[in-house]
Amino acid sequence: MDSATTAPTSTRTYRVRTYGCQMNVHDSERLSGLLEAAGYTAAPEDEDADVVVLNTCAVRENADNRLYGNLGHLRPVKDARPGMQIAVGGCLAQKDRGEIVRRAPWVDVVFGTHNVGSLPALLERARHNAEAQVEIVESLEVFPSTLPAKRDSAYAGWVSISVGCNNTCTFCIVPALRGKEKDRRPGEILAEVQALVDQGVLEVTLLGQNVNAYGVEFRDRGAFADLLRATGAIDGLERVRFTSPHPREFTDDVIEAMAGTPAVCHQLHMPLQSGSDDVLRRMRRGYRQDRYLGIIDRVRAAMPDAAITTDIIVGFPGETEADFEQTLEVVRQARFASAFTFQYSKRPGTPAATMDGQLPKEVVQERYLRLTALQDEISWAENRAQVGRTVELLVAAGEGSKDAATGRSSGRARDGRLVHFTSTAGVRPGDVVETVVTDAKPHFLVADCALLSHRRTRAGDAHEAGTRPTTPGVSLGMPRIGVPDPLPVSTGC
Ligand code: SF4
Repeated sequence: MDSATTAPTSTRTYRVRTYGCQMNVHDSERLSGLLEAAGYTAAPEDEDADVVVLNTCAVRENADNRLYGNLGHLRPVKDARPGMQIAVGGCLAQKDRGEIVRRAPWVDVVFGTHNVGSLPALLERARHNAEAQVEIVESLEVFPSTLPAKRDSAYAGWVSISVGCNNTCTFCIVPALRGKEKDRRPGEILAEVQALVDQGVLEVTLLGQNVNAYGVEFRDRGAFADLLRATGAIDGLERVRFTSPHPREFTDDVIEAMAGTPAVCHQLHMPLQSGSDDVLRRMRRGYRQDRYLGIIDRVRAAMPDAAITTDIIVGFPGETEADFEQTLEVVRQARFASAFTFQYSKRPGTPAATMDGQLPKEVVQERYLRLTALQDEISWAENRAQVGRTVELLVAAGEGSKDAATGRSSGRARDGRLVHFTSTAGVRPGDVVETVVTDAKPHFLVADCALLSHRRTRAGDAHEAGTRPTTPGVSLGMPRIGVPDPLPVSTGC
């Protein structure tokens, strides 16, 4: 750790590298917002940064290898760049703590999932004291949404409604690293959504480890459905999505709110994890196959056009061939539009890691291939059923937004499906177009025809101008919607 005189913060550049889930993607927007509020500027793509922040994930077995591998690559960069600083945050930092500095003494700062806001001060302290700073706290200091954020997208935004989780799935490390569920006040959530819409954002995704449990802190079982309706009532907001729901706490009022609120997209990503009741019991998921399929049926009855996707773990300890067959059977019945499928990997510190019946890799791999083959077949069939359908697309940036070979642009339909479409001049990410699906592939749709309509939007203007919404943090003014201020809650928040 060198103390060579370094440039004042105001001219120092930063880069945040993100690993893992949407929670981390959103936390990284906060880290960028914090650093910019402290005077740092984002490093140009092709330049090394003065400060590199690794926002880590701890869910997968090789997460550790990847972190220490990346830190190994950064060492010579730092050796060649006096004053450069490296900070490690996120779930792996929360788990490994001082071990990171012991294994990689060229790291300057280690901070956890509960004290994201400390980063700028820790960087300063490390520079001033010429000594690595490791600061991990056991529970949330301030709700991350009170921190400034620099958003990645001009047209879509993440809005946290809760952090942490009260469930205890035996394969999951999240509760140990992100703590018990903490719910945000409905009024603050709506104010943040309003602030984003005021800056042209058209789509928000309500974010939580388990959004269906939202309101548990103020003992309001109906809080999430109410929040969906209130969010959907905000003038100018066209699309509302949410992730992750949990079958255990999924209630019918949420289905009614989805079906009854035009802005709420008919898209549901609901993790199944396994189709076997015995495996679900040992995963401590709190539901069984019939409950899961029952929810799917009620969602489809209320919203026949809904696209349902899921997460599935293959090879959980003790999973028999008969258990796996149950998973295939649920997949056949549920007809998911797509699925994230994972080969079980032991996560030290979770109950499942020490369970009997750990399966050989080749057995897990073979089942994984069977499951993905079946799901790809179903995804393609479900996508083929979309051919001829008129779709409204929010034009996307990235996601292969401009396919040089085909000249197609890309966008997301309201049901979450990715569509590559023949565009026209002047169509920008953030604009809204209507077109007709002409072909289907297993993982995307194609619309090779003239656009039916093209709506230029403020989001498109902002994207073109390179401006991104910012939310300064702290609790903002109340939204201008029909809902009394704030949403009534049983214990008053
Ligand atoms: S619901 Fe289960 S899998 Fe999801 S974050 Fe909570 S403990 Fe982990």
